[in-house]
Amino acid sequence: MLRAVYKNLRLFWKYHLTGYPGKGPEEETELGIYYLDFNLDEYYRKILSFKKLYAISKIAEITYRDKKYPILKINFKGIKTNKKLLVIAGIHGNEQAAMMAIPEILKELRSRFSRYREMEIRIITPANPVGATCKSRYNAEGLDINRDFVIFRSREAALIKKEVEKFRPDFVLSLHESPQKQGMFFYANKFVPQETAVRIIKFLKENKFSLTETDYYGRKLKIAGYSPLGFGFAILNRLWKKFIKAQTMGAYLSSIKIPVITVETPWRSSNKEERISGHLAVFKQLTDSMLRQSGRRKVDEIPRIGKAQSTQAP
Ligand SMILES: [Zn+2]
Repeated sequence: MLRAVYKNLRLFWKYHLTGYPGKGPEEETELGIYYLDFNLDEYYRKILSFKKLYAISKIAEITYRDKKYPILKINFKGIKTNKKLLVIAGIHGNEQAAMMAIPEILKELRSRFSRYREMEIRIITPANPVGATCKSRYNAEGLDINRDFVIFRSREAALIKKEVEKFRPDFVLSLHESPQKQGMFFYANKFVPQETAVRIIKFLKENKFSLTETDYYGRKLKIAGYSPLGFGFAILNRLWKKFIKAQTMGAYLSSIKIPVITVETPWRSSNKEERISGHLAVFKQLTDSMLRQSGRRKVDEIPRIGKAQSTQAP
């Protein structure tokens, strides 16, 4: 009993309270990750096989033990674009299905180009390449990139911020996995239109995706699979930011009023297909919903980026 309490406290400290959770990249052994047949070199090859179709560039190379690991930016641009979506995959290097969904998304764009012709879609992956090769949540310095959106100690978090400022997306889709017993869910910050969330949840239900009743924080969800980040999270986030100087990418994006959906498929599941297709399904429903919302926000309605409002949390 005491041992269990101690273990939970230690995991809570490691996941939520410390700025330097690891000494370097660390393979997770306590939270039951079912690893898929992910191989980083093969992942790069798969993505680069699309280079005739999309503009693919290296936005950085992270050096670890004398080897260089690129972070790639893939850009898809339709014909008459008026919607911009930024997709981030692999901030946590051990959430393999989140990364493995990207080639599937690229195939989807290729096969249904005309459907996406009004969109510009930019993808950053693997956002934590050293973590990806070491099956680690953390980067080469042992930092959790997705807690580093206050001080930006990690190069990876700073790069994402720079890309957000340059691209100024209308929407961000962040792909993750997490330790719930079974079933996927997604977080939506308060800028996500309700109709978008409803569309996604309806689709997942109708297509028999397994949906969890509790989210990452153990909160019971009113609607299985859907975790709206409201007032309680805003308070928690302000405390977190103030005292621990930690903030997730989602909270940072909320502070600059960008709608963000974070998909969390269950890393304990051995059902590779379902883990990957969960991400693809949310991508399709989200883009569908973005395309249905007519027109683009006027330029002066787009919030200035860089002026983070500390009172605004997700
Ligand atoms: Zn994650």
